[in-house]
Amino acid sequence: MSALLLALLAWIGGQTGYAVLTTAEELPAVERLDPAAMRHMVYPQASEERLLPRTILGAYDVHKGVNGTIYLSADLDLADEASHEVLVHELVHVLQYRSGKAFRCVGQMEAEAYAVTRAWLAGRGLPDHHDDIAIFSPRSVRTRSRPTSSATSPQTDMACRPDEKRDGVGHTSAPPGRCVIE
Ligand SMILES: [Zn+2]
Repeated sequence: MSALLLALLAWIGGQTGYAVLTTAEELPAVERLDPAAMRHMVYPQASEERLLPRTILGAYDVHKGVNGTIYLSADLDLADEASHEVLVHELVHVLQYRSGKAFRCVGQMEAEAYAVTRAWLAGRGLPDHHDDIAIFSPRSVRTRSRPTSSATSPQTDMACRPDEKRDGVGHTSAPPGRCVIE
C-alpha cells in the first residue's frame, strides 16, 4: 500500500504543486470499513433510512492517527486500477491539510480534489462517473481566470456556500477532514 500511495502522491504533486510526502513514515493510515460503517462514520447523525441509498467509497479524517487516516470502503477492489481514484481524491485532501493552505470552505477543497481526480482518470483513459453539476452547483460556478493553463488548479470561488465559510485549514463547518466520494 505504501508504494501505491507514494506513487499517487508523486503524480498529484506534479499536477498541483503541493509538496508531497516521500517516505512511508509520513503517510496517513489506511483503514477498510464495510459500507454501513462508512456511512455512519461520515454521517454519524443521519438515520439509516436516509443513508442507505448512499455509497461512500472514501473519507479522510485528518485528526485520526499520527498522519490522519484514509478510510476506504471494503467494497473497493484495489486490484482494479479504477478504484485508485478514491485514493487520489483522499490524498489530495491529505496534501491540502498538510500544506496549511487557506481554503474558504470545504466545498473549495472538494472542488480541487475532484478536479485532480478527474485529471487522473482522464490521464489513464478510465471512465469518469462524476457529475459536474453535483460537484459544482450552478450558483457556485464563478471562476477567476488564472495565469496557469493547468486544468487542475481550480483556485476559484466555486463550490462555497454562504453558510460554509472556512477560516483556514483544520477548521471547517462540515465534518472536519472528512470527505465523500459518491
Ligand atoms: Zn473530498
